[in-house]
Amino acid sequence: MSENGDIGLIGLAVMGQNLILNMADHGFTVVAFNRSVEKVHNFLANEAKGKSIIGAESIPDLVSKLKSPRRIMLLVKAGDAVDSFINQLVPHLEEGDIIIDGGNSEYQDSERRTKNLAKMGIRFVGAGVSGGEEGARYGPSLMPGGNKAAWPYIKDIFQSISAKADGQPCCDWVGNDGAGHFVKMVHNGIEYGDMQLIGEVYHLMLAIGISQEEMAKTFGEWNKGELDSFLIEITRDILMFKDTDGKYLLPKIRDTAGQKGTGKWTAIAALNYGIPVTLIGEAVFSRCLSALKSERQISSKILPGPTPNFSDDKTKFLDDLKQALYAAKIVSYAQGFMLLREAANVHNWDLDYGAIALMWRGGCIIRSVFLGEIKKAFDKDSSLKSLLLDPFFVEAISKAQTGWRNVVSTAVKLGIPTPALGTALAFYDGYRSEHLPANLLQAQRDYFGAHTYELLGQEGKFVHTNWTGKG
Ligand code: NAP
Repeated sequence: MSENGDIGLIGLAVMGQNLILNMADHGFTVVAFNRSVEKVHNFLANEAKGKSIIGAESIPDLVSKLKSPRRIMLLVKAGDAVDSFINQLVPHLEEGDIIIDGGNSEYQDSERRTKNLAKMGIRFVGAGVSGGEEGARYGPSLMPGGNKAAWPYIKDIFQSISAKADGQPCCDWVGNDGAGHFVKMVHNGIEYGDMQLIGEVYHLMLAIGISQEEMAKTFGEWNKGELDSFLIEITRDILMFKDTDGKYLLPKIRDTAGQKGTGKWTAIAALNYGIPVTLIGEAVFSRCLSALKSERQISSKILPGPTPNFSDDKTKFLDDLKQALYAAKIVSYAQGFMLLREAANVHNWDLDYGAIALMWRGGCIIRSVFLGEIKKAFDKDSSLKSLLLDPFFVEAISKAQTGWRNVVSTAVKLGIPTPALGTALAFYDGYRSEHLPANLLQAQRDYFGAHTYELLGQEGKFVHTNWTGKG
């Protein structure tokens, strides 16, 4: 058999296998390969049996079984494994062939690979794939970027296998070079933020004495309105889940969270681009703090806090929590899109923010009804500076802010940490302040370092003062 495969896929771990099955379900013939070839044999004998899936024994074998221009997708561990496969593939490819990396690669790597491969006439695509195992199998959110000349050749496959929201594919061309992986990275950062916000709300519910059954009911209710989303839905399910002993499983789980790095990359990018993506930063640091379990155990016995005393109306406070969660989520997405806009400026990416909101609307972990509102905001005004300035979100926050402020101040009084809810509010108040105390910072910097400062109304003119009168 030769030259009849529509696409080759390398990497038969969970993501690769599921994407192959998804492609086969949509009528594409896929050639499968893996570093350890026995996984190809196992896959063909089991999950792939009876489907339009062909095995390859080697890289030359894989290449020989593909139609031209060849399309080869990598779903392998991000980093060296991707470069290793690219190096093995290139000698067997022809000008115009396409390599797609669907792993969680760093966007700078995708930028480098796009440029290097373009010099050899190979079109490279760095595609963010979100939605985990389930998404890969039945419809992921796909964020392809890189060499745009590849897009017409992969569009059909990608848009066929992707999730659909409101009848439209959650997949579109994102932009040049590392744009696809940058957008995927910000998506993952936002996921960290959403999860942290929900965690803080859960913590406050515990602190005011809401039963777990009531919590599940509340999340179930919230999932019917503006907070309707995958993460709220699974939180409800987790809260309801009982172990084999009939007791809830959640309280038995160790309170330390791990991370693979994409949240940290988003926070680093925010610092590098000078954009205050404070909520994702706090979400990453909160995971770091959670990991210091043994230190927390010691300090819990030493460091004093307030005596918890909540005597307000619990039903009203639950509604305030809902408002706080919604408002902070709006701030988090506003920050994420600010970062996208700045990176697009720096890299000259022509990002379509409405299309990005649609790509995240279905198939991925942050999928939600709320992203539909974000899409509408950018469709109305593609040059919108901040989501916070869109009339829909101005109105939403103005309705939510009283409850949000009550939640943050109550948390402080109870001694419950709410870094994400709190930083969102601090950002909001900073963003809506015409005057901030940075005049004092300018003066301090000039005092100790002669860094100079600008006077109001004389921007661009830098002056220095001898603050001590000494020579
Ligand atoms: P994975 O555990 O990240 O990687 C396993 C695959 O990589 C196997 O095919 C393995 O081959 C290959 N591999 C590892 N090191 C290699 C090396 N040095 N040289 C060549 N091949 C190597 O698999 P995954 O969970 O399916 O994820 C694949 C990619 O998708 C990753 O970048 C991941 O971050 C990303 N992703 C994962 C998820 C998820 O939910 N799992 C979601 C979105 C994106 P062998 O079988 O020979 O060891």
